[in-house]
Amino acid sequence: MPFPISEAVPIAFPGPPPAETDVVVIGGGVIGVSTALFLARLGRRVVLLEKGRIAGEQSSRNWGWIRQQGRDPHELPIMVEANRLWTELAGQTNVDIGLVRSGVTYVAESERSLEQYAAWLPFAQAHGVDTELLDKSALSRRFPELAIGGFAGALTTPSDMRAEPWVAVPALAGIATRDGAVIVEGCAARTLDLEAGRITGVYCEAGRIACSEVVVAGGAWSSLFLRAHGVTIPQLSVRASVGATTPIALPHQGAAAARDFAFRTRADGGVSLAAGGFHELFIGPDAVRALPKFRKQLLSDPFGTRFLPAAPSGYPDAWTTRRQWDADKASPFEAIRVLNPKPHAGKLRKVAAAVERLFPEVGPIRYRAMWAGMIDVMPDVVPVVDRVAQVPGLTIGIGMSGHGFGIGPAMGRVLADLVCGNPVGHDLSRFRLDRFTDGSAIDLGPAL
Ligand SMILES: Cc1cc2nc3c(=O)[nH]c(=O)nc-3n(C[C@H](O)[C@H](O)[C@H](O)COP(=O)(O)OP(=O)(O)OC[C@H]3O[C@@H](n4cnc5c(N)ncnc54)[C@H](O)[C@@H]3O)c2cc1C
Repeated sequence: MPFPISEAVPIAFPGPPPAETDVVVIGGGVIGVSTALFLARLGRRVVLLEKGRIAGEQSSRNWGWIRQQGRDPHELPIMVEANRLWTELAGQTNVDIGLVRSGVTYVAESERSLEQYAAWLPFAQAHGVDTELLDKSALSRRFPELAIGGFAGALTTPSDMRAEPWVAVPALAGIATRDGAVIVEGCAARTLDLEAGRITGVYCEAGRIACSEVVVAGGAWSSLFLRAHGVTIPQLSVRASVGATTPIALPHQGAAAARDFAFRTRADGGVSLAAGGFHELFIGPDAVRALPKFRKQLLSDPFGTRFLPAAPSGYPDAWTTRRQWDADKASPFEAIRVLNPKPHAGKLRKVAAAVERLFPEVGPIRYRAMWAGMIDVMPDVVPVVDRVAQVPGLTIGIGMSGHGFGIGPAMGRVLADLVCGNPVGHDLSRFRLDRFTDGSAIDLGPAL
């Protein structure tokens, strides 16, 4: 499988969709695919519509970290469930998804960062996660290869995992269809069909599908789709770049991050590199509307975001993107089948230089591929996972805020139970939609 997934990858699920189902899931990333999988297991007839390719957007463009470490305390129990589900699901497919329990480590540049890491430890302990704080001498004993960087210490979680996202999410789609879900690629959902405000169907490129429940899991396109139906979410999309090196013998085998770099070894012997906290924001109408809610987040890391005046034409928040469209004509979702942003090559070269300085024995690092993805971020860096009160039948699972791959299977399980009206087993109050309109303050929480 080439990485990341683009329009060059042949359609595996051509459809056509049936004229009637119980639930339509919009979006074939890890969230939509996992939701469809668990809905099928709950005995629901489910159709998943993907405008481009399964995992074509964020879900094949991410670093592949399956990380409990540093999560928001409300996400953590869901993430613990996700770790278990990844292991189970890997055993339910004959595709090798590259799942390895190789740990995640954050190295601390300063004593202050180490103190912030220490403050997160009680959350790990409360949920039985094996996170450890390493001071300088413990770091040199545990990871001598990292200690040479002169770091103050580290936070490490041995039970954290990694997988190859461009293999793993299509493999989940394979499990979902085997269990009864219908997946249709190259088929955009255009509009909801509403009668007296309640969902009665979805209009897609292939016509109308009658249904009473819809799950929106459209990643960076969610705000555009929902706003056209009167549901406003303060969502920004930011571009994040990744580089895949040729095979190198990195002395540290787990995933690790510091201020200047983040890396993880891939199954093919290369390493995926990225600039940890750096991303780029294209200004557009949605961004202008949402930015005041992002004040806290932007101030917490003033140099982490580079602002660009306009997104390329056809992007969800480009200045020229239509905000209204008709069900029987091409919609903005058909303009770009797979968002494939241009990566920031200069930044990735700096990341490679930082890793070369840390591990001089590795020699010059060469990239075999570079790519970028548009991350959908919420002001408090946690998702919206909720039923939409104003549109009966509508459920949303969006805004995974840069960490939705790892938690994906469990979020899918939660969304499936939400749709079916079953107990979800976790407190979802932190992820409610009305937190942005009920006067609540934006709470960044203690996530790292
Ligand atoms: C560079 C990068 C690094 C990351 N690293 C990590 C990591 O290491 N670990 C981690 O846990 N997370 C990571 N993430 C975040 C993670 O990839 C995302 O949170 C997750 O993939 C989101 O999944 P999703 O299903 O919500 O969205 P997406 O994967 O973006 O899927 C949404 C899908 O919906 C489709 N769609 C949208 N509108 C319509 C429509 N109207 N009709 C039909 N289809 C539609 C799109 O085509 C798209 O395929 C990273 C993300 C990026 C970009």
